[in-house]
Amino acid sequence: MTRAQQDNDIEQCESELIERDSTVINHLRRPLTPWLTVDRAIPQRTLRMVGPWCFVDHFGPVAAADYQAFDVAPHPHIGLQTITWLFSGQLLHLDSLGNEQPLRAGELNVMTAGKGISHAEVADVQNQAPLHGLQLWSALPLKQEQCEPTFEHHRQCPLFSINGAMATLLVGHYENYRSPASCYHPQIAMTLTSQQPQTSKLHLKPEFEYALVVCQGRIYVDGKAVNAQQTVALGSSRSSVHIEFSTDTRALLIGGEPFPQPVTMWWNFVSQKVERLAQAAKDWQQHQPRFGNVRGYQGKRIEGPEFPNNLKQQGD
Ligand code: MN
Repeated sequence: MTRAQQDNDIEQCESELIERDSTVINHLRRPLTPWLTVDRAIPQRTLRMVGPWCFVDHFGPVAAADYQAFDVAPHPHIGLQTITWLFSGQLLHLDSLGNEQPLRAGELNVMTAGKGISHAEVADVQNQAPLHGLQLWSALPLKQEQCEPTFEHHRQCPLFSINGAMATLLVGHYENYRSPASCYHPQIAMTLTSQQPQTSKLHLKPEFEYALVVCQGRIYVDGKAVNAQQTVALGSSRSSVHIEFSTDTRALLIGGEPFPQPVTMWWNFVSQKVERLAQAAKDWQQHQPRFGNVRGYQGKRIEGPEFPNNLKQQGD
């Protein structure tokens, strides 16, 4: 995924370090391609970051006819991991390391951008199922920000029941379950699916902050209704949460320890140092080798927006 050309704002993403009551926020509608609008849960003015999670897009379900138009041309990333998960449909990931990996429902793609990578995400035209999924970005801690880029594909994630709701652990660990995804910070991402109305009690870590992103159906948390295309921020200092599911409901739990200092996000770049964003913008513009080439992709790359002038002088 990429942020659109018009998403040219620099975002200061700070975790919510304070305890607080649950707060329900609406997702933003954002154009991803000319054919596809996504629901962006974070970042938003009222919820910048949850643990290291600095970006959550929920897309679809998109009908097969439109799904075939899904095509995100090569674009760069630094300083983050992208986690891609499909409820249904199929995508093809292509990157500058030479990976060409189909992603099917139930599988997990994890791309660690580190010091720089570029990739493209395109629809698999053979697959007629509606495209429905999630992409999450996790900021890398300062120590790993400039690590070598890597790509992982996992065919299975831990799948288990929590009081009747089916949980799939994408990142981190829950009780005795552990995700195979590489992870550089104490954090979790877990989908929750319930066909029937029921209540599940989730165990939480008081030192984590959490949010629940509702993708389909409705949940009730702390007596508040949270509908599809809404997120409830739970704050920290909780050891559990009760989630009341409605019929045919899908949600995503994200959480983690807050970062000690804020990260800055501009376009598809994340860093705790603004000058690294400026350098990445310049390097992409100048076709520097750090971002490589996505050889398997037919077509033009995404050039990206102009780096804001007022930020070029910042940094240490
Ligand atoms: Mn991307």
